[in-house]
Amino acid sequence: MTASSLSQKVARLMPGVIADLKELVAIPSIAFPGYPAEPVNAMAARTVELLQAAGVANARAMDVPWGYPPIYGEIPGPPGSPTVVLYAHYDVQPAPESQGWSSDPFTPTHRDGRIFGRGASDDKGGLVTHLGTLRAFDGEPPCTVRVIVEGMEETESNLEEFVEAHSELFECDMFVICDMGNLRVGEPVVTTALRGDVSCIVTVSTLDHPLHSGVFGGAAPDALMSLARLLSSLVDDAGDVAVEGVTGGSWEGATQSEEEFLAGAELLPGVSLLGTGTIADRLWAKPSINAIGLDTTSIAGSSNVILPSARAKISMRIVPGTSPAAELDALVAHLESHAPWGAQVSVERIKSAPAFHVPTGGPGDTAARAALAEAFGSEPSEVGSGGSIPLLQTLHEACPSAEFVLWGPEDMDLARIHASDESVDAAEIERMVLAQALLLERLAARG
Ligand SMILES: [Zn+2]
Repeated sequence: MTASSLSQKVARLMPGVIADLKELVAIPSIAFPGYPAEPVNAMAARTVELLQAAGVANARAMDVPWGYPPIYGEIPGPPGSPTVVLYAHYDVQPAPESQGWSSDPFTPTHRDGRIFGRGASDDKGGLVTHLGTLRAFDGEPPCTVRVIVEGMEETESNLEEFVEAHSELFECDMFVICDMGNLRVGEPVVTTALRGDVSCIVTVSTLDHPLHSGVFGGAAPDALMSLARLLSSLVDDAGDVAVEGVTGGSWEGATQSEEEFLAGAELLPGVSLLGTGTIADRLWAKPSINAIGLDTTSIAGSSNVILPSARAKISMRIVPGTSPAAELDALVAHLESHAPWGAQVSVERIKSAPAFHVPTGGPGDTAARAALAEAFGSEPSEVGSGGSIPLLQTLHEACPSAEFVLWGPEDMDLARIHASDESVDAAEIERMVLAQALLLERLAARG
C-alpha cells in the first residue's frame, strides 16, 4: 500500500478505534488487590474478542500460575517475513475520587479532541493503537505479528515469569512497546533509556531502650534525629545525589522545559525544583534518591522519650549503563559511614532492578524512526523515561537479538497518566496507528 493510501485507510478506521477505546475505558480493569475481579476478567475477555476480530484468530487468555492472564496471539505473515511482537497492557491504575477528577474516570468523555478517563492513555490507548494497526492491513499484516497484552502491569506483574517460562512465544526481530508517549502532542520521540531502581531499608539505633527526654535529652542521642541527619547527607544543598560511587551523566536528546515539567508536577507555591542540569539530565541521566517510607513512633503514640531506633526505606533511581548491585553497594556504604554521633546503622538490601538502554542504529530502529517521521511529518528525537520497566530486560533475555522501539500515544504534556483527568489525544492515536503500520511495511520490505 502507498503511504498516502495507508494514511487514508487509517483515517477511515479511526471512528471505530476511538469507539473501541471508549468502550474499554468504561471497564474499570484495576488489577490491584482489593478491587473487584469481574471487570478485569471482562476486560481480558473483550481484549481477546477485539484481537480476534482484528485478525488474531488464535488470541487467547494464557494460563498463568497466579493473577490475571496475559492475552497472546499470532498472525503468521508471508513466508520469510520478519516477526514483530506488539506489547500493551489492559489493566489500569486505580482512580480514587480523592485524586480530584473533573468527570467520572470510567465514563469516557470527549473534550477538545481528547478522550478523558482512567486508562485512556495508559495503556488502553496503546491497545487500540495495536488494533488499528492490524485493521490497517485487514488482519493480514506484511510481517508475522505476535501480540501480548498484559493484565498486571500496574501492580505485581506476572508477565516476567510468563516470558521466562515461554520464551519461544517471544522470538522476534523487534519488540514494539506501545506504552510511552511524546513529550508534546504531534512531536515524535522514541524512548531510548529507562532508569533502574534499587532500594534498601536503613535502621539507625542509638540507645538500648527509650529514655526520658527531660532527664537525658541534650546528652543522649535521638535515633530519629540521627536518621534525619543521615538521610539529609544523601543529597547536597542543590538536591543532587551526594553519594560517592553512584553514577550520573547528561542527556543528549530532547528535554522538557522547567515550565512544562512544573505544569505536570504541580509543586506547591514557593517550592523549588531539585537538582542541577536540564530537566532531562535530572530525570533520565542522573540518579535520584527518595525516602519512601518511615517506621518510627507515631505522633499519637508519642511521649516525652528519646527514641532508641528508627528506620527508613530508601529508593534510588539509577542510570543506564550501571550495575544495580554496584550502585546499591555505594548507597549502602554511604549509609554505613555517615551516621552522626556514632549511631549504629544496619542496612537491608531490598531491590536492585537494572536500568535499560535501548540499542539504537539497527535496521528496526532506523525503520521505526523513519515511520514516525512519515506519520508525524517531523524527525523524531530521543527521550528517556524516569520509570523502570523490568519486563524489558526479561524480553531482551528471551530474545537477545531482537530490537526494541518504545513509543505510544501517552504524551507527557497533557496525558496525566496515573493522576486525575487522564486523557489521550485522538489525533495522536491516529498518528501512532499510522506509524506502526508504516513500521510493519518497512520491516517487511527489508525481508
Ligand atoms: Zn502503562
